[in-house]
Amino acid sequence: MSTLLEIQNLKKYFKTPRGMLHAVDDVSFAIDQGCTMGIVGESGCGKSTLGRTIAQLLQPTGGRILFSGQDVSRLKRSELKAYNRNIQMIFQDPFSSLNPRMTVFDAIAEPLRSHRDTQDLDKRVSGLMETVGLARRVAGAYPHELDGGRRQRIGIARALALSPEFIVCDEPVSALDVSIQAQVLNLLMDLQEEKKLTYLFITHDLSVVKHISDQIGVMYLGHLVEQCPTKALFRAQLHPYTKALLSAIPTINIDSRPERIVLKGEISSPINPAPGCRFAPRCPHACGQCRQSSPQLREILPGHHVACHLAEEINGIPGGAAE
Ligand code: SF4
Repeated sequence: MSTLLEIQNLKKYFKTPRGMLHAVDDVSFAIDQGCTMGIVGESGCGKSTLGRTIAQLLQPTGGRILFSGQDVSRLKRSELKAYNRNIQMIFQDPFSSLNPRMTVFDAIAEPLRSHRDTQDLDKRVSGLMETVGLARRVAGAYPHELDGGRRQRIGIARALALSPEFIVCDEPVSALDVSIQAQVLNLLMDLQEEKKLTYLFITHDLSVVKHISDQIGVMYLGHLVEQCPTKALFRAQLHPYTKALLSAIPTINIDSRPERIVLKGEISSPINPAPGCRFAPRCPHACGQCRQSSPQLREILPGHHVACHLAEEINGIPGGAAE
């Protein structure tokens, strides 16, 4: 499988009255064509900013985005237009991301109209509605007349309108009822298979990401702290933050329920962050080295990358020594 998207040392900072907010800081990973990379983490960890920066809704502060091997920052105007067509987004709240004055038809037609690509518009919008499971009779309806599931289907149809190869799905099911979440997730997976789509799937819900992702990246305060195949992560978490995150997943099986790890300590500020590991104030294993130098993402086991000075020691992995 070939790599479709690669980001290298991507940074997105925001100027604030109190200093520079490091929303995304030195994040690197690659996604193969037709695969899904899940990004998880608490609110404010930078996962949505990461998605928006990749989709060019925000300009990166530093680093590189390579799409099909091409550096996006070096694309000519016409090539950038093609990139923008090729990368689309599905947003968290379908209600607020849709124009309340636009009918379903117009909302789905809008990306095509804005790219002056209106040949066979009626037929293409009808086809998109069918693809996402929207009945033709709702074409004249307004968003407030539809339920959350159908509104999110409009969002998916809009994302598909320009036939992209890559879609950033930013919490696409978290605003939906649980019963509808499964339908929308299944639709996204069917579309991926049918259209060979590649997804970056952003969520705070680990059970959702387990269902849909091939790889998972865990973010903490702008840093990627663990990245590996989904199965490996659910088998064994090697970063102390990921261990705490997974221990909080509710389960109905009392016998296999892991002991809940409750994190104590303050979350450090992403504004002018202090040197050292950003998780140190909450980490039960933090040592002097953790407060002095920021751990880099390292391959601790085959395909399993962790940003922790003490990952081998904490997990009993032989041959390990602190960086
Ligand atoms: Fe904890 Fe230190 Fe590892 Fe950070 S580097 S996660 S503080 S042990």
